[in-house]
Amino acid sequence: MSIIEKEIVTKDLITKSNLPASDYVINPYVGCPHACKYCYARFMKRFTGHTEEWGNFIDIKRCDKTISVKKLYQKSVFISSVTDCYNPFEAKYQVTRNVLKQLKKADCLITISTKSDLILRDGMKLFLG
Ligand code: SF4
Repeated sequence: MSIIEKEIVTKDLITKSNLPASDYVINPYVGCPHACKYCYARFMKRFTGHTEEWGNFIDIKRCDKTISVKKLYQKSVFISSVTDCYNPFEAKYQVTRNVLKQLKKADCLITISTKSDLILRDGMKLFLG
């Protein structure tokens, strides 16, 4: 089955986190094509109006607002809690890559969660290069 992809506009890519280990969270996408059986993020369907099966849709977030790096000073940022920020659509849309480019200027701790080796495309070059 093909995955339904849609670009959506969001006011802000970064939100305050309720997770104990991070101050802020960024989810560049809604949905996740990996569709892991054990996925805890399926609840996102309720909040986003999706009726498709989890894994059959992906919303690509578009945002004009630049991430405020000032407020991230000495804070922690988790990417991403309810999607895989390096899901296969990232190869085309590069939302995560653009987020990391913005965060490069921030003095903050960034944690990235992914099961994809697409992360190697961006790798440590963004931070160490
Ligand atoms: S990679 Fe993570 S967000 Fe994506 S389906 Fe699997 S558990 Fe859910």
